[in-house]
Amino acid sequence: MQERLGEEFPAFLRSYDRPPQKGLRINPLKIDREDFLSRAPFPLGEQIGWERCGYYHAEEKAGRDPYHFAGLYYLQEPSAMYVGKMTEPCRKTRVLDLCAAPGGKTTQLAAQMGGSGILIANEIDPARAKILSQNVERWGAVNCAVTNAAPRQLSERFPSYFDLILVDAPCSGEGMFKKEPEALTHWSLQNVRMCAARQYEILEAAASMLAAGGELVYSTCTFAEEEDEWQIERFLREHSEFVLCAQEKLYPQRIRGEGHFAARMRKVSGEISAAKPYAIRRDPRAEQAFRAFAEDCFEMEFPGEIAALADGRMYLPPPGMPSPGVRTLRLGVELGEWDGKLFRPAHALAMAYGTQARRKLRLSREDCAAYLRGETLNTDLPNGWCVVCVEEFPLGFAKVTEGVAKNHLPKGLRLIR
Ligand code: SAM
Repeated sequence: MQERLGEEFPAFLRSYDRPPQKGLRINPLKIDREDFLSRAPFPLGEQIGWERCGYYHAEEKAGRDPYHFAGLYYLQEPSAMYVGKMTEPCRKTRVLDLCAAPGGKTTQLAAQMGGSGILIANEIDPARAKILSQNVERWGAVNCAVTNAAPRQLSERFPSYFDLILVDAPCSGEGMFKKEPEALTHWSLQNVRMCAARQYEILEAAASMLAAGGELVYSTCTFAEEEDEWQIERFLREHSEFVLCAQEKLYPQRIRGEGHFAARMRKVSGEISAAKPYAIRRDPRAEQAFRAFAEDCFEMEFPGEIAALADGRMYLPPPGMPSPGVRTLRLGVELGEWDGKLFRPAHALAMAYGTQARRKLRLSREDCAAYLRGETLNTDLPNGWCVVCVEEFPLGFAKVTEGVAKNHLPKGLRLIR
């Protein structure tokens, strides 16, 4: 770093004496930015220069706040939000976030897409894919599928298909040493080289999945040139069908955030291919059960065709959804489950469409801890399903019987004391 930064090196070193910067990004799919600012649950600092919805904050417990459970914001390191600036100008009809867990950039892309187009968020690690899926659910994204596959596997399914692919690559994490001191213990030159080789393989898979005219955004949270600038140079050398559109390296001594690297390249020639469409498996009886539930509980008509999986779960895939053909955790909005007799709504349904529920149990910020801990609530709402909200923002379902609302917040999502 000393060689690279020259006289800027002392300032770089001094930046490590400052505490890590915390950021949050408001969810425009759920709340207007100004509205959130007027009711922010803890003091917010200034706006993050490269993200309209991003703000600095210093709250230690921001992840335990009811607004966080309601998906009104995502907690993200400020520099990581810079990737959104790279993806912002891109066309986003068919988008792939290839290394997506835990979902920071997926939620940012979903916000930029505003519910239209198709977003496939993929993660190779099964446990991390599950967390990604939960974060997508809380965010209320209606157009997102979550898959769990290796980039190569996906590339066999989607040649020349996407108009935007984000490769937020696994890296040596040099930019994160302050935020995650453990990353320092994994560092070695050998690891940097191993990361670079792996990243290049991922980039190759991404390149083949991009349609002509499409854009590839590559990012890391490291300073190593092997993983950043040299990677892009090699890629452009070996892929004459790509041109560089933008490239930026963020250093902690220059900005309020950790280290990050991002580049955007356009594929100027090649093919544009269709993918095999998702064959919706319909089950008229399950669909009828959902429609009856929806009519009773929601003030809206649900758009599109309902997919019924063989295990009784039902989904609302975004229009034009291709068949992922790999392990899939989520395909648009999960509606619920039908066992042949009873329909049980899915948590995702409350998170995506709960504002349209006919019966809402509105709680103040102070009163919703009991619901978030999984407790039953007393209510004067009539019998049946209702959506429990913090103020007007949905948190999940409850089922009322004679004045008692049984808690249906999934166990794994509850607040632990
Ligand atoms: N984009 C995420 C976000 O904003 O929250 C962070 C992604 S993280 C930097 C990189 C991800 O790549 C990790 O979740 C990791 O499991 C995954 N990964 C690891 N090895 C991979 C590989 N060979 N191919 C694709 N992804 C891989």
